[in-house]
Amino acid sequence: MSNAPKLARIRVPNWYYRLKYTGQMAEKHCSHVEQIQVVASNTDICRDCVATGDTWPALRMCLICGYVGCCDKSRNQHTRKHYQATGHPLILSLHPREAWVWCYEDRALLDLDSPQFAGRLA
Ligand SMILES: [Zn+2]
Ligand SMILES: [Zn+2]
Ligand SMILES: [Zn+2]
Repeated sequence: MSNAPKLARIRVPNWYYRLKYTGQMAEKHCSHVEQIQVVASNTDICRDCVATGDTWPALRMCLICGYVGCCDKSRNQHTRKHYQATGHPLILSLHPREAWVWCYEDRALLDLDSPQFAGRLA
């Protein structure tokens, strides 16, 4: 139905992603992948939760500006709030055993298909 690519190759300084469109929304193209600016996090906490003494189940990172916040299962949903406040739609799971990107706006799930990715998180 759509001519959306199943793979997108994203160049950021020094390395690249191969993003594979997967899951139920596999045919849905994400129109934001070219906006990716930040691929490495520099923190392993949700600062907004720490500020209020809360904890979180998992962290996500905004690939547009590098904001790190808690996931949608967290009662604070700081990454979702970041998207709502800024319009930055692409988040990367920072869970060490997960390798996916979610686009809030397109509801597109993208698998990171890059050996470099695992190395980067370790
Ligand atoms: Zn998108
Ligand atoms: Zn949080
Ligand atoms: Zn952001």
